[in-house]
This record gives sequence, C-alpha cells and structure tokens, in this order.
Amino acid sequence: MTMSGRIFRAVAIIAIVSLSVSCTLISETLKTGGEQRLMKSAPPPKKQGPHVIVFALDGAVPAGLMEAVHSGHAPNMASLLGKDEGNGLFAHAYAAPHALSMLPSSTIADWSSVFTGEGPARNGVPGDEWFERETATFRAPVPVSVLDIEDNTKTVTDDLVGKELKVRTLYEMLGVRTYVSMQQVHRGATYYTTVSPSSFGDLLSSLIKGTLRGDEPEKSLSGAIDRGSADKLIQTIEDHGIPDLQVIYFPGIDIFTHVTPDPLASQIRYLEHVTDGVVGEVLDEYRKKGALENTYVIFISDHSHIPTLDDEQHQLGTDDEQSPFAVVAKARFRVRKASLLLDDTDKDYQAVLAYQGFMAYVYLADRSTCSHDGQRCDWKKPPRFEEDVVRVLRAFYRSNRVGRPIRKLKGTLDLIFARQPAAAGKAALPYEVFDGQNLISIHDYLIDHPRPDLPDLEERMESLSEGPYGNRAGDILLLARACMNIPIQQRYYFAAATHYSWHGSACDQDSHIPFILAQQGGSGEQMRSILRKFGGDQPSEKALTPLVRTLFNKE
Ligand SMILES: [Zn+2]
Repeated sequence: MTMSGRIFRAVAIIAIVSLSVSCTLISETLKTGGEQRLMKSAPPPKKQGPHVIVFALDGAVPAGLMEAVHSGHAPNMASLLGKDEGNGLFAHAYAAPHALSMLPSSTIADWSSVFTGEGPARNGVPGDEWFERETATFRAPVPVSVLDIEDNTKTVTDDLVGKELKVRTLYEMLGVRTYVSMQQVHRGATYYTTVSPSSFGDLLSSLIKGTLRGDEPEKSLSGAIDRGSADKLIQTIEDHGIPDLQVIYFPGIDIFTHVTPDPLASQIRYLEHVTDGVVGEVLDEYRKKGALENTYVIFISDHSHIPTLDDEQHQLGTDDEQSPFAVVAKARFRVRKASLLLDDTDKDYQAVLAYQGFMAYVYLADRSTCSHDGQRCDWKKPPRFEEDVVRVLRAFYRSNRVGRPIRKLKGTLDLIFARQPAAAGKAALPYEVFDGQNLISIHDYLIDHPRPDLPDLEERMESLSEGPYGNRAGDILLLARACMNIPIQQRYYFAAATHYSWHGSACDQDSHIPFILAQQGGSGEQMRSILRKFGGDQPSEKALTPLVRTLFNKE
C-alpha cells in the first residue's frame, strides 16, 4: 500500500470507529450524564404485565452466535436459551433458522425497518448513505463513501434518523415506557441513553494507543463501547425503574468484525468474551428487580458479514481514475464529490453516488436542466431514461464485461438494476435487471437465472425501491460480486475504507440474521408458536415491530 493509501486508511478507520463515539463527545446527552428524556409529557407509568428487552446486536452472524452459545464461553445466553432441541428450538427460546435482513443489508436502513416495521421505500431511510433529490441533500448517518462524521453525530445530537423517518416508530405505536440505549432509531422513546464522558475518555485513549486492531475482544475499543451501552441503561433503570420495553444496542460487534483479521471467527470470540457478559449484566439487573421471569428477551441483528480482502484491489472507491465515480464521469456526467458538504462552486454536479458496502446507488439528473459547467441541476425533475439513465447503464455494463471504459470494474459487478424514472412526486417503480439491452423484471430474470444465493431478492428489492420514497435508492443500483459461493479474491465492495469484512449485499450470508425470542424459564415451543406467526421460519427483520406489539397486546 502507498503511504497516502495508508494515511487514507487510517483516517477511514477512525471514521468507522467514530460511529458512536465522537458523536457522544459533544452531545447534550453527555452533559446530562448520558441520558435524555425524549418525551415532552410525563412518561407513562409502568404497566402491569410483561416486559420486553431487545438486544440489538449490530452485525451479528447467526451461525457464529449459535457457535458462541454452544461453546461454553457464553454462559449467560446459553442458560437463557436452555437446551438446544434442534431446528432453532431451545428449551426456553426459538431462533428462527432463516431470518432475513431488508435490503441493503446496511446498518441504518435495517434498524429503520426493524423499529418501524416498514421497508425503505415507505419509511424513507434506504441505507447508510443516500441522496434526497427533492432538497439536493446528501445524507451519511454511517459514512461509507465519505469520511465526514457530522451526520453520524447528528444521529445522537439531532435525531437525524428520527427526522428522516416518514412513518411511526415502534415506540410511538406502543405508547408504553421505553428506554433506548444508543440505538440510532429512538424517536418516541421515553429515555435515550449513550455512553458516559468518563468511559468515552477511556475509549479515546484506547483508540490512540491502537488497541482497536488488537485481536483481544476484551481490550478492544468496541468492547468498551458495548459495555458503556449496558452501564448507561442499568443506571437509567436504577434511577427510573424497569421499563416496559428496553432496547439496548451494541454497535461494537460490527466495528470489531470489520477491522479484525479472520472476521467470522473473531466475531465469535467477541460474542463470547464481550457480548455475553454485557447481556448477563442486563439480565442480572432485571433479576435483581424481580422482573426477569416476566420478561421476553429478543436477540436480533441488522445484517451479517461476508469476509473480504483488506486491500485496495478489492475496494471500489471514489477516485477519478478507476472507480465507479470514473465510470459515471466517462458517460459525460459531472459527478458529485465524495464529501458530505460541498463548496458552492462544486454544486453543479449531474450525478451522485452513495455507497452501502456491497451495494451502490447512482442518482442522475436530467442534464438538459444543467448542461453548462457551473449550472445547478433541477434535481426535482427525474432523469430522462434514454439520454441520461441508459448512457450510465451501458458504461457500467461494458466496464463490468470488458473493462471499458474503466478497467478496474471488469468482473466486479454481480447485477445492475435500473427502472423507468417516475415523475416528480410520484411513487417510484420497482427496480429491474439490466441485461445489456433491456430491463427485465426481477421475477422474469430469476426464472431464467435462478439465484438461491440471493434469497427473496424480488420481494426485498421491491421493498427498497417501489413506493413513495423508492427514488431514494437511486436511478441505478449496483450489486457487487460478494456471495460466499465465489472465492474471497473475487469479492468487491463500494467504500472509502478497506476492511476484512463487509455487508450490504443481497447474498444469503450477510442477509441472514439472528432473530431469537426467549423467556427465562419459559417454554421454547411457546416462543416458536409466537415468532412463527411473523413469517414462519424465515421472518423478515421488520417483523420485530409487529412481534413486540403482539407481546404487549397492542396489535
Ligand atoms: Zn450494522
């Protein structure tokens, strides 16, 4: 790697680990001891009846979680679930064997679906990054193509995700006493907590010392963040009592997996040596308060992980020469710089790219509104199909097939999607597959080209692209080659940083998530009959919202 590449990578890693850290540094919540009361009126009194805890495990791989549970090194989770009876059934729990993420399998989009019960085309939050044509605004609550962390900060200080969501959150639907620890989706919760200033100081010094890339989960910065998440919520329970619904978010699992060699095995060690302990602390707090027996416990992740090569050869970046940005420029579009905010002189762009790891969105302007340099496009207008969309489609298709105009793109893309643009203010049409000549519905394409490695592709792409906010997923969608049935040397990812693993694709591996319903001493068969009502053995992660409503008899 070149020196500049090394520096760039160092900056990128800092940006990634800052996901939940830097934001808390300046947040109002820290000034008040890590807790914010979000409800304007008095919090509702605690109800009689069941409690629910949702452990939101960012990036947890279901097979790895099961391995940890069976290893003997995760005693808290193992004893909660009880004896494994096979096919997802445990003595006191049911783990849906084939639960699936939404698309893209990317943090902000997925948690938004989990905690609203709606897909991106309806809830308005389609990824870690996206572009809003109506206001010509680039959003990056988790930066992937950009390095700026301001939007990530705003997820804590300014409820960025809550302001973007167009539908009610689970907390608003329930109207019960809800505590949310660190989760980006917290609009409508009673209390929202983040890590404390003192633990942040420890985290920061760990980062500077470079322990982040260490192989020991216990000493990792990620582990300190996750322990902080639990500490804050326990303090809130001590101060305000047990809530009806507790959501506790662990961002560290995902961060650790991205930056650690042998990521899938490393994550198992992390789940054993960090996650299990903090789960145990939370359960102990409920036990101490005499509330555990009457509590449903849910484990769910937003997406899983696919190992990748941590080098620039497999990274599809944002440079002018060999990246997807260069493809669009070669098709004669002025491409928006990969930066959250732009100088006024850079606002004459005609194309925007937003990255999600294994997926990328390309937004195109009607260039007849901005043909001259320096002229700003009318982004409220959709692009023209032939003159704008098809030009870029062909450039990507040819680059992927024959390496022209961009050599590095050859063999990097699995599928290219596009659709006829919808008129301004109209619901977007579902994405279709581009075969080099025509757009073909995903349904018809899959009849001729079966893809069992891309489960529920048609339904999940519809949920991302078809609807009132479907245009937030771009005019063209690129899916990188990523699935586990090809060698790691043939997997590529759209990102500003190289990592040991990525997600964001439609592949079985990173789409498959843990989704477990448990009850201390309860009946696993009963857990199974409840959870199976929400999609059999293959529930979508967005079933979390109706499931929790049912547990509170609010459905
Ligand atoms: Zn995530």
